[in-house]
This record gives sequence, structure tokens and C-alpha cells, in this order.
Amino acid sequence: MAVNVALDGPSGAGKSTIAKLAAKRLGFIYVDTGALYRSIAYRIISLGIDPKDENAVCGALDDIKLELKYIDGTQAVFVNGENVSDKIRTPEISMAASNVSAMPRVREFLLETQRSIARTNDIIMDGRDIGTVILPDAQVKIFLTASAEVRAQRRYKELAEKGDSSTYEQVLADINERDYNDTHRAQAPLKQAQDAKLLDSSELTIEQTADEIVARVEEYRQAGDTVKKTAEIKPAERVPRSERIQREIMPVRPIKKGKKINPLRQGFYNVARPFVRFIFKCWFDLSYEGVENVPTDGGNIFASNHRSYGDPVFIALMTRVPISYMAKEELFKQNIFFTLLIKAWGAFPVVRGTGDTAVIDISVNKLDSGRNLVIFPEGTRSKDGSVGKGKNGVALIAAVAQTKVVPVGINFEGEKLCRKKKVVVRYGKPIVPAQIGVTDTSPKNIKILKKAIMENISKLVY
Ligand code: C5P
Repeated sequence: MAVNVALDGPSGAGKSTIAKLAAKRLGFIYVDTGALYRSIAYRIISLGIDPKDENAVCGALDDIKLELKYIDGTQAVFVNGENVSDKIRTPEISMAASNVSAMPRVREFLLETQRSIARTNDIIMDGRDIGTVILPDAQVKIFLTASAEVRAQRRYKELAEKGDSSTYEQVLADINERDYNDTHRAQAPLKQAQDAKLLDSSELTIEQTADEIVARVEEYRQAGDTVKKTAEIKPAERVPRSERIQREIMPVRPIKKGKKINPLRQGFYNVARPFVRFIFKCWFDLSYEGVENVPTDGGNIFASNHRSYGDPVFIALMTRVPISYMAKEELFKQNIFFTLLIKAWGAFPVVRGTGDTAVIDISVNKLDSGRNLVIFPEGTRSKDGSVGKGKNGVALIAAVAQTKVVPVGINFEGEKLCRKKKVVVRYGKPIVPAQIGVTDTSPKNIKILKKAIMENISKLVY
């Protein structure tokens, strides 16, 4: 298994210098995630876009192609084929990177690039949210900090050596502003992961700090995964994973209702839906109940029991607004036709076991963009039709987004869905989190909401 070291901390704490040194000693790859945000900022500025204009920045993302390459062990970032590694270290880009990094779609855009490299390589990855969001299961987590003055002094020296004319006061003001942006943004703010070790580099030399990281990795290697994890986190601090996620990152951010989705997608859906409904009605003995409970707008969650791969289609056939739904990453690797089909129907990939927080963010963003979201709270399909316990995710997403949850029951007899089978899809009355007192994501409220959702689904399943 690849060994991952998550190194987080504020700007100028010395993360990159220390990570490079430690990576060299350990024979690991050093991944500088700040360079990814900087590269996006670089491209945005080159396109003449204001880095604070979220709509324009997000609109440009589809045309940005980022690649990380390792040339003689050193990371190089390519933006649309251009090696920008030497061009992204200016104060202007630093500030623009801080602006674009607060935008949820930008973070979503970079998520998989960061995770995929960690999956198959021993790495030290530095950034702001590596231990909390990108690699929550990293074997070693360090939070590196230093006083703002010490950091400004170091950055000032570095810039002066490069011939930059910024004064110490300007550099300090920049550091303070970026600290503020990074720690106050709604999405993946800079903070120490609960199981990260705090290192204050104002008191340590570069060598000593790198030694500390190397020692932690050695310790992990010697002790082995399980032993190390229990030794590192004191028993009193151990918190169930689901709670840890809730406590760390889940402020409520109610979605804005009434957003119109992309007219092309809506147009495609308007044409595809009656066509698919016709095919499904011919193929199955399909009927619907409680259709009056289906909201006519978007931004709602449909929480359903899970019986077959056809479920997202059964549910969507009565909704006027296109749906999105989570699907296992493996499903996107089966065959191109199937992948295109599920994507066209709104599937987005979820990597199992990692990044629950990111999945919640992505889901809330889908709702906020005006889509409806289909979720199967049980996670896996039920062969016999019985409704299982359900996971917290659906309640968390609904509580964060403060949006309606429509319970759905999909019913057919036997294990397999086959031609001419009688299928009954029932929609229940929408559950509005605030109406049952769920106005935040406290564990107590998540439990209440989950219970209400699961009970209502069960009532719709015979
Ligand atoms: O680390 P560096 O200073 O190169 O990062 C540039 C900017 O990118 C930071 O100010 C921060 O706002 C953002 N960033 C981030 N998350 C990361 C890495 C960088 O938000 N993982």
C-alpha cells in the first residue's frame, strides 16, 4: 500500500522546502498542491478573467487541462501543454490562487488529480486541506505552522533574492490576507486535522522539521498500519469516522432555489425523458403512486431504497428537472457505452472509502446548480427488497443544503428485474429538514433526519 504523508499549514510555513527535503530522504514523490491552484490562477489571468469572478472562473475550467509531470524527481505543472512551473510564483498569482481556491468548483476540479497520484505512489503532499479532505486516511499527518512575522520574513527574503521589489510590510499584509482567506472560506478551510501532529517551524530549523517527518514515516513503517494508527491517536481522541467528518467540515450552506440548469441539458432531458419512459413502460409493467409529491423545481433530494441499476431511471421519469446520482467509480470503467449512458443520465463517480466530505460538497454543489439528486442511503442494492439501516450521508447533504428530501419506494417481487415485471414506484411526502428542527449538522440532528428519511422510505416499500 502506498504511504501518504499529508502536510498542511498556512502560506510561508516552509512546507515546500521541508517536504522536498523529507521526500528526497525517504525516496517519496513530493506533490505541491498549491502549484495546481496557482496554475489555474495563471490561466485565468492569462485569459483576462478577474480571479474573483466566480462565474467566469468556473466557466473557464472546462478548457483548462492540467498535468503534473515529474522531471528528475521535480514536479512540473503543465497548463494546456505549457510548462508554467516557473511562472506561477509571483505575488499576483499567489493572491489570485488564494481567490480561486475558495471556489467549490475549482476544488472539485482538482480533487481527483490529487487523489489519483496518492493512490499509487509514496508521496508527501503539501497544501491546506490534505489531511482533512483530500487524504483523510493518510498514514502520517503534519500541520506545519509559524508566526505570520516569521513567515513574512522568509517569503520577503525569497522574493528579494529573485529580484522582486515587494517590501516586508507588503509581504506581511499579503500573508495575513491569504491566511484570512484560507481559514475563513466555506469549503475545505485551512485547519489542523484532528489526528495531525502540530509542528511550529518558527522554533525549528529546516533540517529538524524534515527529521520529524522522516521519523514519523519510519515509525509508521516499523509499527505497521494498525499499530501506528492506535498509538498515534490517544484513545480519548478517537471519534467514529462519521462524526469526525461532521465535526470537521460541515457548516450549513442553504442552496439557492430556482436556479435554471444548462438549457442544453434541460433540452436533452425534455426530449429523452418521454422517450425513455415509453421504452420503460413497454418493457416493464410500470406504475407510479404519489406523483403529486414530486416537486416541479430542482434542488431536491430523492432518497430511495435500491433494487436495481434501473432505479435512477425509474425515479427520474417523473421529475421535470434532470437528476444527478452517485455511482461507484468501478461502473465508469466497464465499457464506454455504459459509461456514456450513465453519465448522460447524471451519474457522477464516487470513490468508495475516501473523501466523504468531498462527496458531500460535490452533492451540495449539484443541488445548488439546480439539479435534483438521487441518493440510495443504504449504499448497496437490496436483493430481497428489505430496507436496511441507511448511512448518514443523505441526512448530512440535506442538512447542509437545507433542502427537501422526497422519500421513494421502489417495489418489485423477487430478486431480479426482468421484462414484463410489475414495478411500482411510490413517492412520499417531502421531508423539510427545518420543519423537523434540523437546522444544523450536529450528530443529534443528523440522526433525527436520517431516522425520518429511512422510516418514510420503509413505509413506501411493501
Ligand atoms: O501553497 P501555496 O502558497 O503555493 O498555495 C497557493 C494558494 O493556493 C494558497 O494561498 C491557498 O489559498 C491555495 N491552496 C489551497 N489548498 C491547497 C493548496 C493551496 O487552497 N491544498
